[in-house]
Amino acid sequence: MDDQETILIVDDTNTNIAVLGACLQNRYHLKVAMDGKRCIELAVQEPIPDLILLDVIMPGMDGYDVCRHLKDNPLTQHIPIIFVTGRDSDDEEEFGLQLGAVDYITKPIRPAIVLARVGAHMKLKQQRDALRCLALHDQLTGLFNRHFLIDTAKNKMARAARNDEVLSLVMLDIDHFKQVNDRFGHQSGDTVLKAIAQVLTSSNRTEDIAARFGGEEFVILLDNCCILDAADKTEQIRLKIEALIPEGIFVTASFGIAECQVNESFDQLLARADAALYLAKEQGRNRIVKANNTRE
Ligand code: GH3
Ligand code: MG
Ligand code: MG
Repeated sequence: MDDQETILIVDDTNTNIAVLGACLQNRYHLKVAMDGKRCIELAVQEPIPDLILLDVIMPGMDGYDVCRHLKDNPLTQHIPIIFVTGRDSDDEEEFGLQLGAVDYITKPIRPAIVLARVGAHMKLKQQRDALRCLALHDQLTGLFNRHFLIDTAKNKMARAARNDEVLSLVMLDIDHFKQVNDRFGHQSGDTVLKAIAQVLTSSNRTEDIAARFGGEEFVILLDNCCILDAADKTEQIRLKIEALIPEGIFVTASFGIAECQVNESFDQLLARADAALYLAKEQGRNRIVKANNTRE
């Protein structure tokens, strides 16, 4: 039952929770909150709900307040919300939809309608999630793509600066990759790219981001990691790639590392890592070069 989708039911009345629960419990995993505050807590706890059924009239925070709150938080803004309410005027319905809800179900609760609407919105969410996943990942390697990296890096850098944390960026470029294609064919080249991507994924902590930045260039963002730790970690990756020999092809990579400096933009950080990578190539490849830190 692990692949069941999760629905968060939010209602201050036990009877409504029981009625909604009875029609949904066979098909979905259910979480229940009896007020807005609890809903907001449960919305960010695993399992993250795939959909929220939200009562409008509740003491304390009403459903509209809760909806605004969830839509303001990047972690919860993608969760579809269906309002469940006794109010059934057009104005109310329009208001709820304007706040970002996907649908509106009126009480008394009719199980067949609830199931049909929930089912339709679950399907739409799956399609949206699949599109989002496609838009953020590189198709060949399954790593994040450049677009996602740039977006995420900007957020991570802002957070690191706010909390006075360190963050390092590693840029990796496969050595003489053109020769791999020329000698073994493009398809073998693709296999090498996938094998190297696998090394990057398996070497990462979950909070780190590995992305395919271009053809045979990859970038790793390391949270809470100074340049010296980044160099240690990168050395492990360098050794793993050297030992990989995918399809019998010996490949190596060169690396440039830079630690984020005060007030540095992502482009500047990337440019310093890129310059260090260029030096690594110049100095003979299959090696790591650290960019100088400017803050000391
Ligand atoms: P260097 O050591 O200086 O990095 O040399 P290099 O040959 O790796 O660098 P260069 O930039 O000359 O060549 C990169 C090659 O990567 C050329 C391009 O055809 C190949 N490439 C880019 N994307 C892909 C891909 O998706 N699949 C395959 N098989 N090859 C790719
Ligand atoms: Mg290159
Ligand atoms: Mg290369």
